[in-house]
Amino acid sequence: MEIDRNNQVWGGIEAGGTKFVCGLADASGRLLDEVRFPTTNPEQTLARAIEYFRPYSETGRLVAVGIGSFGPIDPNPDSPTYGFITSTPKPGWQQTDFAGAIARALDTPVAFDTDTNAAGEGEHRWGAARDLDTFLYLTVGTGIGGGGMARGRRLRGLVHPEMGHVIVPRVAGDDFPGICPFHGDCLEGMVSGPALKARVGRSAEEVAGDDPLWQIVAHYLSAAIANYVYVLSPQRIILGGGVMRRQELFALIRERVGQWLGGYVQSDLVLNRLDDYIVPPALGERAGVLGAVALALGAGTELRQSRNIRP
Ligand code: ZN
Repeated sequence: MEIDRNNQVWGGIEAGGTKFVCGLADASGRLLDEVRFPTTNPEQTLARAIEYFRPYSETGRLVAVGIGSFGPIDPNPDSPTYGFITSTPKPGWQQTDFAGAIARALDTPVAFDTDTNAAGEGEHRWGAARDLDTFLYLTVGTGIGGGGMARGRRLRGLVHPEMGHVIVPRVAGDDFPGICPFHGDCLEGMVSGPALKARVGRSAEEVAGDDPLWQIVAHYLSAAIANYVYVLSPQRIILGGGVMRRQELFALIRERVGQWLGGYVQSDLVLNRLDDYIVPPALGERAGVLGAVALALGAGTELRQSRNIRP
């Protein structure tokens, strides 16, 4: 990496259930370097992340680290377990003090939120949600999750939204039981990447674009999206994640969202311009790691409020 020794850098960790992406960026969001490695156990995985950032913290160049994490997590800065991954089904990761471990090892401030809120923060700062204050970022991959902002603040409440686990109406004749360990046939249980693999017995990446599977995927996702439109009234919906790399899904989803809404929501975007309303991430494959960097850049005040993760 070629960076001026004195330049400050912000770190981002896109913490996924299958892989971690760590990156360094300047204040303008220019990604200077990134590394990716598989998510194994917490000790090994966090050690690799710390090792990556350590040279920059030791030379005083690392200003802050942002983490966009798989969950469920505790995103509430007033909570004693702020910065923890909490009840995740991922083996070994329950009650992991993620943000605290990074902050202590690197002696640096850490900002922590869900992977989808982080990606939304990045899209808000540099991508498809610039100039918007209420939007949804939905990821459809290993899991399904939703984040974003309402009136310019990242979505958070009791804990954080769990949009992947909404209840969706079945396609007539679809007898797939679903794979969510908590609910069976919730949205994630029906059409996450692993659910699709369970449906067809091979990776969804190998399924042809005109396969009926994609109609099923579009049915469930569009039903959920129609409900999010009613609940959040988002100004735009950004769909990312591995499954959404299938670009043909966008047209199918837009058409069905229009059908589900039935002309009820009175907005030109929803009625006539769904191409502008339901879009891929402008930051593409880097939405996750740049979103985490965006958390670090916007971190100041919320970090100082935290009891737990100050180094
Ligand atoms: Zn579920």
